[in-house]
Amino acid sequence: MDKLNTPVSAPDVQEPKPSFFNLVRCKCPRCRKGDMFAEKNPYKLRHTMKMYDTCPVCGQPFDLEVGFYYGSSYVSYSLSIAFTAATLVAWWVLIGMSTEDNRFFWWMGINGVLLIVLQPWLMRVSRTLWLAFFVRYDKNWRTNPPARRERVNKDHMNAW
Ligand SMILES: [Zn+2]
Repeated sequence: MDKLNTPVSAPDVQEPKPSFFNLVRCKCPRCRKGDMFAEKNPYKLRHTMKMYDTCPVCGQPFDLEVGFYYGSSYVSYSLSIAFTAATLVAWWVLIGMSTEDNRFFWWMGINGVLLIVLQPWLMRVSRTLWLAFFVRYDKNWRTNPPARRERVNKDHMNAW
């Protein structure tokens, strides 16, 4: 009934909501178009964590407050646990486990190596997902200005 008073169509261009997988590709959570990291390849380790200060496409600030990305360690931890659980199940189904041999230890070793190899990408995705908890996709990102950050200290930015 309240709908009678609301406008039928919004004046701005309606874009389909981009896929969640744009976050896995480390795109800005607000426009899902701009890159968050200056270097595309996470395995160029010298530049793995080098981020843009703001989104090159929509202007969303990436460092919201002092020490913002400390929280991404929770995301990283959860992703690592999920990955480990997945490899455990896969190993169990495909290769099997027994107390009679060392298959369990082979799984532990291989899982550990995979986690280390995945680490640069995991760290990036964790930061992207952490930012996405606080910055929602905005379908009107072209016209809406991004929210201003409240407190930042230039000296404390990227200080890890
Ligand atoms: Zn953006």
